[in-house]
Amino acid sequence: MTDLTQGIVTKSTGSWYQVLDPESGRQIRCRIRGVFRLRGSRTTNPVVVGDRVRVETGAAEGENVITEILPRRNYIIRRASNLSKESHIIAANIDVAYLVVTLDRPVTSTEFIDRFLVTAEAYRVPTVLLLNKIDLFAAPEYREAIDSFVEIYRGAGYEVLEISAAAGIGVDALRERMRGKTSLFTGHSGVGKSTLINAIQPGLGLKTGAISDYHHKGKHTTTFSEIFPLDGGGLLIDTPGIKGFGLIDIAPDELARYFPDLFRRAPECQYYNCTHTHEPNCAVMAAVARGEIAESRYVSYLKMLEDDDKEGKYRK
Ligand code: GDP
Ligand code: ZN
Repeated sequence: MTDLTQGIVTKSTGSWYQVLDPESGRQIRCRIRGVFRLRGSRTTNPVVVGDRVRVETGAAEGENVITEILPRRNYIIRRASNLSKESHIIAANIDVAYLVVTLDRPVTSTEFIDRFLVTAEAYRVPTVLLLNKIDLFAAPEYREAIDSFVEIYRGAGYEVLEISAAAGIGVDALRERMRGKTSLFTGHSGVGKSTLINAIQPGLGLKTGAISDYHHKGKHTTTFSEIFPLDGGGLLIDTPGIKGFGLIDIAPDELARYFPDLFRRAPECQYYNCTHTHEPNCAVMAAVARGEIAESRYVSYLKMLEDDDKEGKYRK
């Protein structure tokens, strides 16, 4: 076997890595050299799913070694846990991140969505919202709640697709747009991500909530991100369900930049360094007051500012 000059890491357990040879479709098991552990010490995982890597193939399977990580085009990163200083990269080299959300069962909060979107903006990952379980909200009395959700995010500049993984609404169109691309799927656990992935590519047979409830074994949770090559071409990155999203390395005075709806207004603020919290003639606050920026987006902005604001500088 010859060395791989451009493999794609499709699975990582921390002790070994699975690398796809895009030419042959073969997956090989690899280890890494200790040097990566040092270099990537700020994150808990030095080599991540989606990484383009070089591999030196050995005589035996256990002897394949990842020797180099090529520069990452982008990635999704979060704090390893709420209190932790360490960060965890969920995946790298993503064309589109699909954030699966539900209005109810479970509720996905706008603050959670906004935190994800800020990180995705900061690390240049285009994101599309998938509003799943739309079949549960077909009755006319839900229309207003759906429309107002969609309005918030379309107004902020994001695409929102109404889908139902269980009823097959919007799934074919989604599969079509994923063709040839690397698509990451994420969301709270229970939103239907596994059901959706199974609908996109039925052969995968991921475990879903319904199946594990039946066996009374508790919910199976994916603990590592994993990449699946798609039959129609392209890659799908499945990620573990996430509870919260700690922001990494975003300075308070940069934060507004990652809210496209707020940032659009910032040039009209009186002060070039306006924080949009208390300044006179702030165009952002004026737009919120006029209903042109969604209140929930602005509230998320304020909450994220407070994350880094031990002195209460932005608290008014
Ligand atoms: P995951 O934790 O995000 O992977 O969620 P699962 O795919 O395991 O789904 C959680 C539960 O939601 C299961 O009982 C699914 O059957 C159900 N579910 C998933 N998608 C839909 C949907 O579009 N409509 C409805 N009504 N239920 C869904
Ligand atoms: Zn302002």
